[in-house]
Amino acid sequence: MRHCEERSDVAICKMNMKRIVILLVTMVTALSVAAQDYIFNRTPLAATDFAELPIGAIRPEGWLHDQLVRQAEGFTGHLDEVYREVVGPDNAWIGGEGDTWERGPYWLDGLMPLAYLLDDEQLIAKATVWSEAMLTMVHEDGYFGNRISRKYIEGFQRGKAEDWWPKMVALKILKQYYMATGDQRVIDVLTGYFKYQLANLPEKPLDHWTFWGEWRGGDNLDIVYWLYNITGEEFLLELGDLIHSQTTPWTAMFWGETNELRTQNSMHTVNLAHGFKEPIIWWQRSQDPRDLNAPDNALKIMRQTFGLPTGLWAGDEQVHFGDPTRGSELCTAVEMMYSLEEMLQATGNLQWADHLERVAYNALPTQATDAYDGRQYYQQTNQIACSREWRNFVTQHEDNDNLFGVLNGYPCCTCNMHQGWPKFTQNLWYASVDGGLAAFVYAPSTVNAKVAGGIEVSLKQETFYPFDETVKVTVNFASKKVKKAEFPLYFRVPKWCSQAEVKVNGVNVNCLSKAGDTVRIAREWTKGDVVTLTFPMEVCISHWYDGATVVERGPLVYALRMEEKWERHEFEALYEGKYGPYYYTCTSDTPWNYGFRLKDMTPELMFENFKVEVREDVGAYPWNLENAPVTIRAKAVVIKPWKEYNGSTGPIAYYREDGDDTGEEVWIELIPYGCTTLRIAEFPTRL
Ligand SMILES: [Zn+2]
Repeated sequence: MRHCEERSDVAICKMNMKRIVILLVTMVTALSVAAQDYIFNRTPLAATDFAELPIGAIRPEGWLHDQLVRQAEGFTGHLDEVYREVVGPDNAWIGGEGDTWERGPYWLDGLMPLAYLLDDEQLIAKATVWSEAMLTMVHEDGYFGNRISRKYIEGFQRGKAEDWWPKMVALKILKQYYMATGDQRVIDVLTGYFKYQLANLPEKPLDHWTFWGEWRGGDNLDIVYWLYNITGEEFLLELGDLIHSQTTPWTAMFWGETNELRTQNSMHTVNLAHGFKEPIIWWQRSQDPRDLNAPDNALKIMRQTFGLPTGLWAGDEQVHFGDPTRGSELCTAVEMMYSLEEMLQATGNLQWADHLERVAYNALPTQATDAYDGRQYYQQTNQIACSREWRNFVTQHEDNDNLFGVLNGYPCCTCNMHQGWPKFTQNLWYASVDGGLAAFVYAPSTVNAKVAGGIEVSLKQETFYPFDETVKVTVNFASKKVKKAEFPLYFRVPKWCSQAEVKVNGVNVNCLSKAGDTVRIAREWTKGDVVTLTFPMEVCISHWYDGATVVERGPLVYALRMEEKWERHEFEALYEGKYGPYYYTCTSDTPWNYGFRLKDMTPELMFENFKVEVREDVGAYPWNLENAPVTIRAKAVVIKPWKEYNGSTGPIAYYREDGDDTGEEVWIELIPYGCTTLRIAEFPTRL
């Protein structure tokens, strides 16, 4: 541990996480009341340094609040009306005879946290119907929920009622309900259900009813350990061992011992997002570095195979090499975010915070309409039209996969999309085991939590991040009597930031933090103290599929700005039942066939050829074409033979080549990927 310069009452040190773990071991004996209020790992699980806060402790502010309100006013708050037949009153999870499988729980997995984050009474009432049903529809053997499988009806999933998989989503809902309310019945119902699992899994393993449970066992395991940390009942560790043994062997796959990460069509894209966390969830029990480090190795392999610059991968139903015209499913985005959040909390490894921001701030915002009344099943990294045309996806769904609609493509995303932003909000702040708080992911928010032996602190994070380079955190206390308290604050220096600056009350502590560092500031904080973090964002280039060029700045990928023509259409009567009543298309006349030349992207010329313009007049909602807060004017070149093919960018010979197929030099405008609907994000690279 290196102490940086100390001035007056400011003491700042930075260290990497390995060092923090060592330091904290010595602190545990002096643990404060605050730490006991939050749920850290219990032995023999690996000691955790950070813990989730109760739902409601973190309040979204600024653009993030606007985003959550849009969800409340759009699909998330109204899915029981929009998709009434499946998640309305006849759903079997709430006592009806309709759908009994994943779709109802999927919706609640996002509605439940959203309702409490916004403290919205109507939404809380809606969500409570489901949690009450789950907590009261409990059977003698510990099973909860409907167990009657019913005859198949088109558009419903009424069979395989007892399947382990949809229960895994229900477990996540009950955990969140407990984190919002402290309702003790959750502990009793989960304890009973896990005893049922322990008794029945040997005969009916995770893949007994469907194969989803086997691939997604990490979701089940995660909640088993969460309950163990509360009750300490030994049988939960035994159950965890059993669940892990029946789950897809992700660690072996991620170390390349099996070939799924190098083989197209080797697995379902969303299963990979679920499985991504499993080695780390299991590591808490195994404490084997092989498990801990497996996801990092998976990323290294995927960077050469399936990876996309959004932090996701090409996967339209099945996984594929990362051609930017392939699809990326919305469920993959929200499930990968959830996996990264669980991994970040379990390890404190900031790599997962960087990756979480990459998905949340690039892939997620672009896949739903501004009003949250339409979503895409698949997004394309290079997406020049959202139209009814045949594209190179595994599943075609009558050519409607990349439209913005209600049920087009497949209905899973309509139900599952809701968890993305609410859970992201819930992971902006953690309690630290030494009685402090940690901000590892940045967005405007306020946190009210206990520190230093039970003192209630209120920290306001003011920022226009991820567009702005500055994050300002102001310290306040709940009680007027409290003026000062000593506790640590933790911050992340993003991996992309080489020259972070940290100030306390305007005093530059002269402590240059390295990219990827955890900054720990332990001091006596006074009401009104301000921490200012500055993360200078520089334009940089990365190369992806076949050497394609991607422009990045800070946590954001930048993409070609294209004018958008949105049109609303009714689905034909033939398809309305299957795909919903309406959809939006988005098309453009903006030319898009541009590439970049390596000679224009040398370090000496980057500043000259990629000019950043930051707008000051952006309203609250930044995630669209009109409000895009940052523009990069870039020197590009026309790629003459690059033409449209069936609504997508067509083949050229291909992204990286030395041949002279370039036309005139042009200046193009790039805006954040998350603000685009139509775009080129992976550009051909020429000499
Ligand atoms: Zn989906």
